[in-house]
Amino acid sequence: MPSRVAFRGVRLVDPASGFGGVTDVLVEDEEVAAVGEGASASGAEVLDCAGLVMAPGLVDLHAHLREPGFEHKETIETGSRAAAAGGYTAVCAMPNTDPVADNAAVIMEVRNLADKAGLCEVLPAGAVTRGLAGEALTDMAEMAGAGVRLFTDDGRCVQSSRVMRMALEYARPLGVVIGQHAQDEALSEGWQMHEGYYSSILGLTGAPGEAESTVVARDVALARLAGGRLHVTHVSAAGSLGAIAEAKGGGIRVTADVTPHHLSLCDADLISYDTSLKVNPPLRTADDREALRAALASGVLDAVATDHAPHAAEDKEQGFAQAPPGTIGLDTALAVVLTELVQPGLLSLEEAIDRLSRRPASILGLDDHGGPVAAGRPANLVVFDPAAEWVAGERRWYSMARNSAFAGRRLRGRIVHTVLRGVFTVKDGEPTR
Ligand SMILES: [Zn+2]
Repeated sequence: MPSRVAFRGVRLVDPASGFGGVTDVLVEDEEVAAVGEGASASGAEVLDCAGLVMAPGLVDLHAHLREPGFEHKETIETGSRAAAAGGYTAVCAMPNTDPVADNAAVIMEVRNLADKAGLCEVLPAGAVTRGLAGEALTDMAEMAGAGVRLFTDDGRCVQSSRVMRMALEYARPLGVVIGQHAQDEALSEGWQMHEGYYSSILGLTGAPGEAESTVVARDVALARLAGGRLHVTHVSAAGSLGAIAEAKGGGIRVTADVTPHHLSLCDADLISYDTSLKVNPPLRTADDREALRAALASGVLDAVATDHAPHAAEDKEQGFAQAPPGTIGLDTALAVVLTELVQPGLLSLEEAIDRLSRRPASILGLDDHGGPVAAGRPANLVVFDPAAEWVAGERRWYSMARNSAFAGRRLRGRIVHTVLRGVFTVKDGEPTR
């Protein structure tokens, strides 16, 4: 590509600077060279962006890229392509691979594969415990030295209070955050969906919201005791929100995210027995969903994270009880948020970009992402058409997997360009590699 590109007449939405308005943005080599009307340079490729929105590239706190070990579900390359197609410039990859990312060698392998793909910055998360077994802590200092910012046993929940306390204590001097998939194993044993009216009429084993909220309450108490930073991922139950809000009010260092599927779907949707709607934690009630939406708007929930969880077709083509949980999410996250939250007026566009980019970048300590979009800053950008409608999966998925909870849904908002350090990873709606 030319080393100079002028995005002309674009509506820049940049929560980090507070800027929102139509302007021109010039990208030169890896950086934003100028922002302001008439920002251009001789020899620049000029892109007319009338009607389009530019924002800092999206940042995902939670994606399963499956490599190493599960390359039949997704690879770092295909997952990175889905991320770029969804407007992401940075993604935090979960460590429940095979081998588990519980040592620096696996962390370096993931980083190298992501660099080779060159489609998205991939930050590998490290496991809290060896082999995700919940017992012995990993060498967090060694992995932090290899660039890990977030540690989590995601897929599993750290059950032991003692282990969780120690993890939060070690996290503090390292300046890293402990992510928790909050789920009491005893309270959720054998679960297939949320426990309630629909689990009884569908005849499926349920797990109550308390399987999550009791762990959240405990972890908030442990974060207070240990002083380390806690991040509660994919909050699904209304009952978890009080402890998070109270912790924030009390100065405890707690952040939290919520997925597009928990913001838009609920347990009643499972009457279809569609295994793409079997997710972990399960879709909860319509009341839970309303509470999550309000908490995202108020800032009790900091970020939207996809929990992109690709599976091979044969995995999901089993009965509901046997199918593994998870939905893909990178391709559709922005459009789901625009359709379900921004369009009905529950969230402003600025707030949506804040929750999808600025806040997750700050939770991960990623200075190069999340804005501000200003001269001299790395050019990590997304440009999208907020009015374009499309049907999810109608044309194709960029993820290797097809298990989307949103397949066939009409969504509003389509990615036009994604720029990673000045290089187009998506141009005119198509990945460039
Ligand atoms: Zn999880």
